Amino acid sequence: VFNFSAGPAVLPEDVLREAADEMLDYKGCGMSVMEMSHRSGEFAQIIQTAEQDLRDLMGIPGNYRVLFMQGGGTAQFSAIPLNLLNGGVGDYIVSGSWSKKAAKEAARMGRARVIASSEDDGFNRIPDLENLHIDEDASYVYLCHNETITGTVYHELPETGDVPLVADISSSFLSEPIDVSRFGLLFGGVQKNIGPAGVAIVIVRDDLIPEKTPDGVPIILDYRTTADKGSLYNTPPCYTIYICGKVFKWLKAQGGIEAIGRRNHAKADALYGYLDKSDLFKTTVRKQDRSIMNVPFVTGDADLDAAFIEACRQAGIVNIKGHRSVGGMRASIYNAMPIEGVNALLDVMESFERSHG
Ligand code: PMP
Repeated sequence: VFNFSAGPAVLPEDVLREAADEMLDYKGCGMSVMEMSHRSGEFAQIIQTAEQDLRDLMGIPGNYRVLFMQGGGTAQFSAIPLNLLNGGVGDYIVSGSWSKKAAKEAARMGRARVIASSEDDGFNRIPDLENLHIDEDASYVYLCHNETITGTVYHELPETGDVPLVADISSSFLSEPIDVSRFGLLFGGVQKNIGPAGVAIVIVRDDLIPEKTPDGVPIILDYRTTADKGSLYNTPPCYTIYICGKVFKWLKAQGGIEAIGRRNHAKADALYGYLDKSDLFKTTVRKQDRSIMNVPFVTGDADLDAAFIEACRQAGIVNIKGHRSVGGMRASIYNAMPIEGVNALLDVMESFERSHG
C-alpha cells in the first residue's frame, strides 16, 4: 500500500528489507540487534555511526550535542522548560495543537507565556512574526516548525536576537535543509521521517546544557546526564536507534538533504497544484505557510470525505483520513513516500472529482 500516515509512518522499503536480512544475525555476531547489550561494542558502533551520519546530513556544528532520548516528542515539552528556563520565562509561539500543548506543559513546569498565536484562525497559518514581544527575561523562544495536524510550516524564522530559538521539528526533521546554527535547540520524535517510535532526538547547543543537573529535574529528562553519558545513562531503545541509523545511510545514498528536499517540494507542489485548481477538494492552509510534509484537505462534506477515503482504500492508499480535530483528509508525504504514491493519490482524486464533482 501507499501509507500516508502522519506517524508512525512509511519507512524506506530498502531499510526494512535490510533490517529483515539482519534480524536473526547482525553482521555475524549471531544475534539480533534486539538482543544485544547496549554496552556492547556492536551497539556502540551503531549509535556513534548514527550520530555522525545525522551530523553530516544536517551539517550540525561541533558546538552542538546530539542526544537520543525517550518519551517521544512529548517528554521534551517538559524537558525543555526543566533544563532551559533557569529562572526565566519561556516565550511560546502557538501555531497549532503541538505548540499549544508544549506551552501548556511549560506553564506547569515553570513560567511560560504565549507571545503569538493563530488559534483564532483555526491554526490555518503561522502567527504574525513582526513585532513579537519577547520578554526581557526570556530564556528561549519556542515554536513548532511544522504543525503535523493543521499542516503549517515556517518558511521564515522569527528574529529573536540573543534569545535562543527552540523548535519542535518532529514532522519536518530532515525534510529539507535547515540552518542548525539559527537555533539553540531542535528536537523531534523520530516516528515520522526517521524511524520507528521510541526515540526523540535533541540537538542542543553546548552552552544551553545546564552545568549540573538542576534540582528537581528527573534524571531521565536531564540534558547534562544524557550528554555526559552519550545517551546511554540507561537502556536506550536500541532497535529504534539502529533503524534510525539505517535511514540516515539511506538518506545519504539518496543524495542527502538537498536532494531529498527537492523531491519533497516536487511531491508537495504536485498535490497543492491539483488542490488549487480542484472544484471539489480544498486546502485549509494559507498559501505561504503550507507544509511540504502534511497536506490536509477537505471537500466540506463529511459523507463525501468518507466516500473518498473508501475510494482511496480500494486503490491501496491508506491512512489518509484527517486528524479527528480537523476532519477531511491529510496526506503525510514524508521522505520515504515515493512520487508514485503521490501520483496514485492524484489519480484517485481526479477520478473521484469526475464522478462526484
Ligand atoms: N510534536 C509534533 C509536531 C508532533 O506531530 C507530535 C506527534 N504527532 C508530537 C510533538 C508528540 O510526539 P510524541 O507522540 O512522540 O510524544
